[in-house]
Amino acid sequence: MASPAEAALTFSLEPNPAPASDATRAAVLANPGFGTHFTDHMVTIDWSEGTGWHDAKVSAYAPIPLDPAAAVLHYAQEIFEGLKAYKQADSSISLFRPDANAERFNQSATRLAMPTLPESLFIEAIEKLVELDKAWIPDAEGASLYLRPFMIATEAFLGVRPAKTYKFILIASPAGNYFKSGAPAVSIWVSDYTRAAPGGTGAAKCGGNYAASLVPQGEALARGHDQVVFLDAAEHKWIEELGGMNLFYVFDDGTILTPALTGTILPGITRRSLIALLREEGLTVNEGRYSLDQWREDATSGKLVETFACGTAAVVTAVGKVAGNDGEFTIGSGGPGQLTEKVKARLVAIQRGQAEDTHGWVRKI
Ligand code: PMP
Repeated sequence: MASPAEAALTFSLEPNPAPASDATRAAVLANPGFGTHFTDHMVTIDWSEGTGWHDAKVSAYAPIPLDPAAAVLHYAQEIFEGLKAYKQADSSISLFRPDANAERFNQSATRLAMPTLPESLFIEAIEKLVELDKAWIPDAEGASLYLRPFMIATEAFLGVRPAKTYKFILIASPAGNYFKSGAPAVSIWVSDYTRAAPGGTGAAKCGGNYAASLVPQGEALARGHDQVVFLDAAEHKWIEELGGMNLFYVFDDGTILTPALTGTILPGITRRSLIALLREEGLTVNEGRYSLDQWREDATSGKLVETFACGTAAVVTAVGKVAGNDGEFTIGSGGPGQLTEKVKARLVAIQRGQAEDTHGWVRKI
């Protein structure tokens, strides 16, 4: 529940006195890449014990002053989200399920002993920034404005306990295709490292999870693969998820399986949306567990016909090849299968306003 002061919070605006020139912005939009260029503004909202959320501000994108003793720098009290703003065919702008990101942000906050942010403030921050910096939304197919809301513990205190002050920040970055290779199907490496243990922070979107995934992801890249896939921590047997995407398996009997949300994988918003879309098509989607051995056996026998990964950044991407210490195997033809292509097209059409939004997932700005 928002306090009365929070409910009345209004955003002050300090426009960037030196925004990027039209030529600079045009050059970025012509080749946005992923996560390297940022728009002219950012949003900040502060939280203090006793006061709650205060000082909501839209201002020039700039470095933030931080005390060297700030808790985030020592004990990683940090959470984030990732979502996209899309330009529609009629030039209007839409967000995809920002309420779901707000909900997951608060679940992460709770796990990391941080304050929750009222959903209305989370969405208002996004709408204000996107509206102001809409010239930064690329038009190209597959491109969007990637939004990165995050929260850090700012209190200068070295004791290990939840901080008493926090800062919510929202930045935006024009995004092109997530995979540099633009490959139609990715190749993944089965890591010996584990990402998340039962009772840990696997279901939270906190920076620490990603810091721990860098060595395994680096190993995957060094071996010529695109992404790492993690197995469960207890038995090192059950497939969990990729470094930044959830997985779906498609079988020759038409059924689909995705790993269940057991607390060690991130509850993806794309995952949740695809389950709903596939079930709407009359397909059976099971949530359960699937072992690496079974995956190899089923891919080899042909019982498994497709595997795809999904997430905000990469949308829907076929997994063509899986490699690990026990050798490698190919899934289907090694390229995107029929269902992968179909479900991707359906999701993208909804996100881009080219298909009816029967679920009320699209929020126009
Ligand atoms: N798993 C992990 C570890 C991720 O970082 C992401 C990206 N947020 C996902 C899955 C996919 O989640 P979403 O569909 O909400 O982007």
